[in-house]
Amino acid sequence: MKIIGITGGIGSGKSTVADLLRKRGWIVYSSDEISKELMQTDVELKTAIVELLGAGVEKDGLLDTDAIAALVFGNSVQHRNRLHALNRLVHPRVLAKHMMNIERHRELGSPLIAIETALLFEVGLQHGFDYVIVVDAPKQVCIDRVVARSGATAADVEARMAEQMNQQDKKGLADFVIDNSSTLEALTKTVNSTAGIVEVMPERPPQSDDDDFESEFEDGYDEDDFEPEEDGENLKI
Ligand code: ADP
Repeated sequence: MKIIGITGGIGSGKSTVADLLRKRGWIVYSSDEISKELMQTDVELKTAIVELLGAGVEKDGLLDTDAIAALVFGNSVQHRNRLHALNRLVHPRVLAKHMMNIERHRELGSPLIAIETALLFEVGLQHGFDYVIVVDAPKQVCIDRVVARSGATAADVEARMAEQMNQQDKKGLADFVIDNSSTLEALTKTVNSTAGIVEVMPERPPQSDDDDFESEFEDGYDEDDFEPEEDGENLKI
């Protein structure tokens, strides 16, 4: 079974690409969708998030994602430390869910599954995939799209971008780059032609004994990427 990673900066069009691939018949799991679901259904996780960010992030028994976003996305060290602490809670659970899904599809004999995730290279997961697709669009286009989608300010979007690896580096590490600088019609064509190639590519031979998604996860993703940036600020979350 081939495991395909789909990544790209905020607003590049990852979720749109994931939806187009689903329409083509691909099985695509989204880290963002899984984390949103877990944050509402995993009681242990919910409790840990309230402990971390305070009672203000809970409303009517559910986590208030807008309140969480306001606390973790911003330019201050405090925002960054909160984001890293939140990631340390959420990411292992999302990855465990991906692993369960991968196992299930292996048993079912599925030929291919894809995982759409904002943080992929950043957490050292690239070796767990047979191929990685990076969705790309110019920075200003991404900002405009996210502002139009969510009503966030351009400064908010830039703060989120600053948390991710820059697009140029991501493209350098990609097996395939999907350009999404133009219309949805153009994107649909590019997605289908790229998907057609990926579908006929062979599985990537393992580079070592533990070169698969499960081992990448068990080795621990790069925890350092989620560490607070400045000693002394650690407790100020
Ligand atoms: P990401 O998942 O990478 O953050 P999305 O797929 O959610 O990005 O895309 C961001 C916004 O831009 C969404 O509202 C989406 O509908 C829109 N969008 C994506 N690609 C295009 C495009 N080629 N033309 C116009 N709007 C687009």
